[in-house]
Amino acid sequence: MSKLFLVPTPIGNLEDITLRAIRILKEVDGILAEDTRTSGNLLRHLDISKPLTAFHIRNEHQVVERVADRILAGETLALVTDAGTPAISDPGFLLVRECVRRGIEVECLPGPTAFVPALVNSGLPAEKFIFEGFLPHKKGRQTKLQAVANYPYTTILYESPFRLLKTLQQLAEVCGPERRVSVARELTKIHEENARGTLAEVIEHFSKKEIKGEIVIVLEGRDVACNVLTDDDSDE
Ligand code: SAM
Repeated sequence: MSKLFLVPTPIGNLEDITLRAIRILKEVDGILAEDTRTSGNLLRHLDISKPLTAFHIRNEHQVVERVADRILAGETLALVTDAGTPAISDPGFLLVRECVRRGIEVECLPGPTAFVPALVNSGLPAEKFIFEGFLPHKKGRQTKLQAVANYPYTTILYESPFRLLKTLQQLAEVCGPERRVSVARELTKIHEENARGTLAEVIEHFSKKEIKGEIVIVLEGRDVACNVLTDDDSDE
């Protein structure tokens, strides 16, 4: 039966593509790509040649029905984004919702995504966490920052290198400079860095240099004591 696959792709290191992802990309009838040029490069590297269809945030509302029609007509398709797992701060959700609504089988392969290694590397509690993605740039930013400051669990934010310092400074204003944070930069790449400390320490660290590359901010939750498993809890 035809279906939709969501296929995670590397967030930097090409070795992170899974064997199954390669096989599925070879087997499907066509590939939906956030950026056909970026995915074309990856597919060439993998020696895969498939018809590509553009699928991005500017056209996904218009094309989800057509894509679902294609699958119902018998095609099996894979969705890939520029990097990481589709639908995680990337296009994909609308298509999955449409497929589910129309009874189409959907399968997301496990694979690369930036927030999991950033969280695990942080050394902050990973038992429960909140994935917030990108903060709004303007409207609603202050309200969201206040909300983030009050989240009781470790919170994960995606950020651009150009806004990193401003965001860390705003977080220090709402959380206090002693709240712990870890900034993961260039995960899986040659210059991977995980800068850990209080907000004040990490702000100082990044104030001293030009900030380049891709960034995940992992912020300690408000009530850290409630966040950490005690020996008693782990016995249960
Ligand atoms: N779908 C992707 C995922 O599964 O993580 C996220 C796509 S979102 C458009 C891109 C953001 O993810 C970047 O701005 C950055 O915050 C984060 N990111 C992606 N690759 C990264 C990397 N190698 N190191 C650190 N952060 C990364």
